[in-house]
Amino acid sequence: MTLILPAKAAAAIAAHAESTYPDECVGLLIGTLNDEYKTALQVVPLENRWSGQVQLAPTDDPLSRRDRFYLDPRDYLRAEREARAGGYEIIGCYHSHPDAIAVPSERDRIGAQAIGGSRFSFVIQAVRSGVAAELTSWLLVNEGVRFIEEQVQIVPAERVAR
Ligand SMILES: [Zn+2]
Repeated sequence: MTLILPAKAAAAIAAHAESTYPDECVGLLIGTLNDEYKTALQVVPLENRWSGQVQLAPTDDPLSRRDRFYLDPRDYLRAEREARAGGYEIIGCYHSHPDAIAVPSERDRIGAQAIGGSRFSFVIQAVRSGVAAELTSWLLVNEGVRFIEEQVQIVPAERVAR
């Protein structure tokens, strides 16, 4: 699959990622989906609600949001209701990797198990020294065993078909 990302949406993700630096940001992508293409029409920034209660491993520093995010299911459901009311759906989520490469971590894989399906995009925005760097997108396949990278096409807004 290819994720079609209007330049405006890509810029919104980059700006969100820079604004929460050095912490990770998190948000959702709202849009349309068919067999070949996913198109992100709207970026919904959410709060990174990471806290000790959602610790995944005993070695976790429960207070740091620098290498992890937590997408609150209540935020997800609210965004999903709004998307559906507008005739759209949640096609993916994004988060940032402050001073790290835009490749999913093992923590991302564990945390992603409950989100989306095999066509759900996991977008990662790298940020280096506070400045947005590369953006990648991933699909969780083989029943959550591994991520594979998907193509991202950044297009000018006027070329986005609704
Ligand atoms: Zn990550």
